[in-house]
Amino acid sequence: MRPLALLGGTFDPIHNGHLRAAWEAAEQLAAEVHLLPANVPPHRPQPVLDADQRVVLLRLALAGQERLRLDTRELDRAGPSYTVDTLLELRAEHGPRRPVVLLLGVDAFAGLPSWSRWLQLFDLAHIAVLARPGHARDYAPALQEQCARRGCSVDGDWRDRAAGNVLFVDVSELDISATAIRRQLARGQEPRFLLPDAVLAEIQARRWYA
Ligand code: ATP
Repeated sequence: MRPLALLGGTFDPIHNGHLRAAWEAAEQLAAEVHLLPANVPPHRPQPVLDADQRVVLLRLALAGQERLRLDTRELDRAGPSYTVDTLLELRAEHGPRRPVVLLLGVDAFAGLPSWSRWLQLFDLAHIAVLARPGHARDYAPALQEQCARRGCSVDGDWRDRAAGNVLFVDVSELDISATAIRRQLARGQEPRFLLPDAVLAEIQARRWYA
């Protein structure tokens, strides 16, 4: 069964770092990749763009290809979503056997022990850690322990299981962040080639992040 891989994030805005990492993960894992924009809980710093605006940019970014798809389920729910609840829902939809892979940049992976019911994530999905420049693989002991127990190479036998492994995926390291893009736009600079042309054109036409 073709693995289903998921990349969650605020995507404020979507950029080539997300897109290229997701694309290479899709290739290396032979997976279908879904991008899941998040509703941000009220007590966390809010995205600059609201959910509808971020979705407009995601749709522009994903146009013209089939390998990366948009899944807005977390936005369609009223409140913020915990990843574990999203995975429970997806697991119910896809059945107990399909390999599901949660894609996380190294920075997001390092924060995993603070997530709600984080150990339950391994019952529901594999976790694939995507290389990202400027972020060391410096994990809390509890996370290191999970890596030691669950580590599997990309070419290993993780596809035989629906969940439970940790994979490290060597994607091209692009030093691109949404924060840096927002900063450039706020200063009146043009972050061309850091994100798709159609996404930049829409941001400029609507004067977002200015
Ligand atoms: P911000 O700068 O606003 O924090 P971001 O660029 O980190 O945003 P997010 O939407 O927070 O983007 O990231 C979603 C997911 O994509 C996270 O797992 C993050 O680690 C990963 N990611 C973001 N940028 C890259 C990149 N350049 N390379 C690899 N993974 C990335």
